[in-house]
Amino acid sequence: MKCRFCSKKTDTVLIDLGSMAISNAFVTEEQLLQGEMIYPLKVLVCDNCFLVQVDEYQQKEKIFSAEYVYFSSVSDFWLEHSKKYVEKMIPQFKLDKNSLVVEIASNDGYLLQYFKEKGIPCLGIEPTNSTAQIAISKGIDTLVEFFSEELAYKLSAQKTMPDLILGNNVLAHVPNLNDFVRGLKVFLKSSGVMTFEFPHLSRLIEKNEFDTIYHEHFSYFSFYFICNLFKFHGLQVFDVEELETHGGSLRVYVKHKENNNLVVGERVKMLLDTEIGNGVNKIEAYIGFQEKANDIKNNFLTHIIKQKKAGKKIIAFGAAAKGNTFLNYCGMRTDIIDCIVDDTPSKQGKYLPQSHIPVVSRSYFDNNKPDIIIILPWNFKKEIISKLAFTKEWGAQLITYIPDIEIN
Ligand SMILES: [Zn+2]
Repeated sequence: MKCRFCSKKTDTVLIDLGSMAISNAFVTEEQLLQGEMIYPLKVLVCDNCFLVQVDEYQQKEKIFSAEYVYFSSVSDFWLEHSKKYVEKMIPQFKLDKNSLVVEIASNDGYLLQYFKEKGIPCLGIEPTNSTAQIAISKGIDTLVEFFSEELAYKLSAQKTMPDLILGNNVLAHVPNLNDFVRGLKVFLKSSGVMTFEFPHLSRLIEKNEFDTIYHEHFSYFSFYFICNLFKFHGLQVFDVEELETHGGSLRVYVKHKENNNLVVGERVKMLLDTEIGNGVNKIEAYIGFQEKANDIKNNFLTHIIKQKKAGKKIIAFGAAAKGNTFLNYCGMRTDIIDCIVDDTPSKQGKYLPQSHIPVVSRSYFDNNKPDIIIILPWNFKKEIISKLAFTKEWGAQLITYIPDIEIN
């Protein structure tokens, strides 16, 4: 493929996970009788700019279809994370009733609701109609659109320009990165700031978190790449924080290059030096990831098949996207895993894409006492283990598998 950023021909493979269904395309009872589309999930790395990326086999409209079942507000963890973010940003950037905050991919208003509570004007931009409508019903001004350079020009002509633009886990989903960042350059107020959170590629590789890869994520970013991306478009990363979300994420702070009122912090140089020291800009650093992923898969299969043969009742918890990548890569079906317990009402009663494992509510535990519960969203391991503490009554084992098999 042609690199999404620098257009150079890119063919070095980071990992090939075979062909899979789209991880958020949950299947209804009726759809079980129909065919299901699968698409290659092969991740490449550009040996010129070191962007790690997948080809976009799917139309973005199809991936973020009206059936999209992800609602941010369902997770207490994300609500708390968002509230803390808002409480940090307001004093740090002196936001008040005359400011404008814009969130790109604002989902159901899970975050903007906290700015609204503080009386700070905000606008959400969210392409998924089902989630956007929930935000609108909460009184959060939301445009049902994909953000692009064209939209940025349109909005700049109609509205005050934003003091703060934020995007959490959105950059990875953007098919046309250059158009998106050009749009940010157009839309941001000259004194404004932007923050973006995204899974940190260096952590993904270091911890073998290959299940964080799915079709909806077109790109995977090192800090080195992100700095270059914004620099190319006349913007500048001036601070960075390392977060524990998604198994290791970054929050980068970005400004216009011309804005000299904000200085570039020490943390930027430190993280860049660390990444360069680890070979982020050398192709060798990206080789060998496939073998490590295969080791995780094989160790998991060996363990779980042994348990199944011993007559253990096995289920999973948390129908997250990363769980689908993992289960499908391991070829799991209902012959091993009976069902997935998930607290999201819109997922319950449906089946996981491709593996067709049924998703059930927590009332499953009223009549069933599984011996083994595989925690699919291992990034919420602590939260889930405490939620499932009651399963210890009958001695259930709670298992995570990345970076290694761990029995809790
Ligand atoms: Zn490139």
